[in-house]
This record gives sequence, structure tokens and C-alpha cells, in this order.
Amino acid sequence: MDFAFTPEQEALRKEVRDFLAKELTPAVRAEMEAANEGRPLHRSACETPLLKALFQKIADRGWVGISYPKEYGGQGGDRISQYLVEEELYRENITVSLGGSGAPAIMAAGTEEQKRHFIPKLISGEFMFCQGFTEPSGGADLASLRCRAVADGDHFVINGQKMYTSNAESATHVYLMARTDTTVPKHEGISIFLIPMDTPGITVRPLWTIQNNPPAPQTTTYGHGRTNETFYDNVRVHKSCILGEVNKGWRVGSMGLNLDRVGAARYLISVKRDEDIVNLVKKSMDLGDYTPAKDPAMRDKLAELWTEAQVCRLMTLRSMSIVERGGKFTYEGSAEKVWAPEHGVRTTEAITQMLGQYGQLLNGSPHAIRSGLFAHNVLGSFQSGINHGSVQVMRDQVARRGLGLPRAKRG
Ligand SMILES: Cc1cc2nc3c(=O)[nH]c(=O)nc-3n(C[C@H](O)[C@H](O)[C@H](O)COP(=O)(O)OP(=O)(O)OC[C@H]3O[C@@H](n4cnc5c(N)ncnc54)[C@H](O)[C@@H]3O)c2cc1C
Repeated sequence: MDFAFTPEQEALRKEVRDFLAKELTPAVRAEMEAANEGRPLHRSACETPLLKALFQKIADRGWVGISYPKEYGGQGGDRISQYLVEEELYRENITVSLGGSGAPAIMAAGTEEQKRHFIPKLISGEFMFCQGFTEPSGGADLASLRCRAVADGDHFVINGQKMYTSNAESATHVYLMARTDTTVPKHEGISIFLIPMDTPGITVRPLWTIQNNPPAPQTTTYGHGRTNETFYDNVRVHKSCILGEVNKGWRVGSMGLNLDRVGAARYLISVKRDEDIVNLVKKSMDLGDYTPAKDPAMRDKLAELWTEAQVCRLMTLRSMSIVERGGKFTYEGSAEKVWAPEHGVRTTEAITQMLGQYGQLLNGSPHAIRSGLFAHNVLGSFQSGINHGSVQVMRDQVARRGLGLPRAKRG
């Protein structure tokens, strides 16, 4: 087993590092700081001149959507190269993610027309999906969804409500799961629609998470804490908006979610935070007569978290390698989705412990450290164990698909 990257991959990593060292001038960094919403910067949210220019240079180098075929605007490259580029950019708080499971699902199940319409514009940043899967009745049991799409000639008319539709306020399209047949078993009557957000009948209402109560400082790792409720009132769409076959949306949606779990972002959210803490401790942390860098317990904790982060990274690379080789990918993404968010919780807890009781104060308290950044990060970290499939449900998938155990007996 060879864990090394190829010379070409190492050269690519160096090229990205050199690029960032040259391009992230103090003026660019100042714009990055001003635009920062805590989340890594995406080109769709960058309107200022220097950031626009930066993202254009990144795009010109072909670093967005590297693993997508050339005819759809990608580079026809391998996933590991894409990962290496994402890893380097993410360390500088920049993301070139295509935003969720829409793009991989379109590549796997879309028509030629859909691929040509969506993929180049997702790569260029002109299009951005939000994902409308979860409903008020529950997200873990997704197949019970009630949002209805009723056929009407060449069209479908959609009515229903979705919960936690993150980024709906800025997305151009929604990647929506709706029920198209109520007479068959629940997994078999579901379809996926790709719908422009400006279609009449769609309403977006903000839904703030605990991380934003009181309002979080801009610099939290988990962003500003906004997700959305979305309402669909007689939304009329042409049947060509369906991704894959009618009533076969369950398979397409699950596959897209699984593929989207394979990537640098999840691992890097945790690892970057780890690295930030180590840098903080190394450079500036001197709390009166307590210096965390010299405290044996804190040093052990940081070493332990770093080691856990490396496990996370290897799990990510393993999953990518399986997908790259066309292997069967069933539970690996779920295992990663358990490990990374829980590592994230442990990391944010470690820093608040280090800061003592003041580390628990939220934004607004006169005694809060760095506007309560670390306390807000603790709250934010719990979300990542829920969004994109909760860790409990992921554990169940590992037990069934990874360990071959029967379905759990509940109740
Ligand atoms: C910040 C945030 C962003 C999100 N963004 C999106 C988005 O963009 N698009 C979207 O569609 N959804 C999104 N979600 C929704 C997310 O996928 C769901 O919250 C998640 O699937 C759990 O669903 P639920 O909240 O309805 O909880 P429920 O399904 O009601 O579950 C409640 C609890 O019971 C546990 N549970 C349920 N069933 C089982 C089981 N079989 N075995 C073990 N435990 C179980 C769950 O793990 C959970 O802890 C987001 C959620 C959050 C918090």
C-alpha cells in the first residue's frame, strides 16, 4: 500500500501554495476579512474587486471542478488532485466547492442536456444549488416526505414545505425531493427536481440556529447560523426539471448525498480549527500566570486532537480513492460523517476548557473573549453532527452496510 501522492500531485500542491503566497497580499486579505462570514469564502459571495479577481485567477488555472469532464467545464482530472487543491485553498479560508450533492447527482443521473446546462455554470459560480430534502415531519426518515408534485400534462405542480434549506437565500436553484406517487411504498414514489429559485410560488423564510442566539460574531467557523424554511405553493415546473426517472429519486438522492460526503471540506473544517488552536496557543496564548502551551494536560489534548484529525484525513482520502477507482462506496462516507463532526465537537470543547469559564460566554457579554467566538463555535459544532444526515443515522448505516448487522429493533 502506497500512501504517497504522485510527483504530479505534489507539484500541483506546490503550485497552489506558491499561488496563494503570491496572491494573498495584505490588500486581498483585508477584503477577505471584510467578506468573512465565518465560513470559507465562495466566489458566489464575493463581490469586491480584489476577491473577484482572485477567484477568476483560481478559475483560470482550472482549479474549480478539476475532476469534472472537460466538455462540462472541468479538467478531466482525478479526485485526489481536486482534494489537494481544495485542501490548500481551504487552509486559507477559500472554497471552490460546487455546493452540495446537486453536481455529483447530475453527473451520475442527469440527461446530457442537464449536464451541459448545469455543470459548467456550477463550476463558473453562476449557478448555486440549495438542497430541499428535509421537511417539518423529520429529516432522518427522509423517505416519509410529504411535499407533493402532481403531474399536469408536461408539467408538475408542487406543494409543500421544506425545513433547513441552507443557502436558499442566495442559491439560484433548489435540488428538491418531492413525492410523485402516493400509491406505492414510500421509497418508490419520490422524484428529484432541479428548479430555479425565482419560479413563482417559492418563498424563503430565515431559520436561525442556536449558534446565532445572541447573534454570533462574523468569524465563527460554522458561519452565521442561518438556514431556512422554504414553502412551495403551486410551483409549476416542466417535466424536464426532473433529475433521473420519475419515481426513482430515492436512489439518485442517496447516491448524491453519499458522493457529496466524500471531499476535503468535512475533514478540513475540523482540522483547520485544530491548526488554528495550535497556532493560537503557540503564538499568543498567555492567560495571566497560565500559559496553555506549557501545560502538560493541554499539550496532550492538542496532540490527541491532531492525531484524530489525521485519522479523519485518511478516511477522506480512502473514500476518494474508492470512488476514483469506481469501487463500491457504501458505508465509508457515513463513517467519515460520524468521525469528523464529533472530532469537531471535541476540538471546540477543548478550547473553551482552555479558556476557563470566560470561554463559555456568548457574544454580547462584556467579559466574552473575542466576542464569544469560541462559545459560538461550540454551539455551531453540534449542528454538523445533525446536518447532512445525523451521526446517529450514520452509525446505523455503518452497522448495517459496513458490519452487515440486521436492521435495528426499535421501540
Ligand atoms: C444547520 C443545519 C443545516 C441543514 N441543512 C440542510 C439542507 O440544506 N437541506 C436539507 O434538506 N436538510 C438540511 N438539514 C436537515 C438535516 O439533514 C436534518 O436535520 C437531519 O437529517 C435530522 O433530521 P431532523 O432534524 O428532522 O431530526 P429527526 O429526523 O426528527 O430526528 C431526531 C433525532 O432522532 C435521531 N434519529 C432519528 N431516526 C433515527 C434512527 N433510525 N436511528 C437513530 N437515531 C435516529 C436523529 O439522529 C436525531 O438526533 C440541516 C440541518 C441543520 C441542523
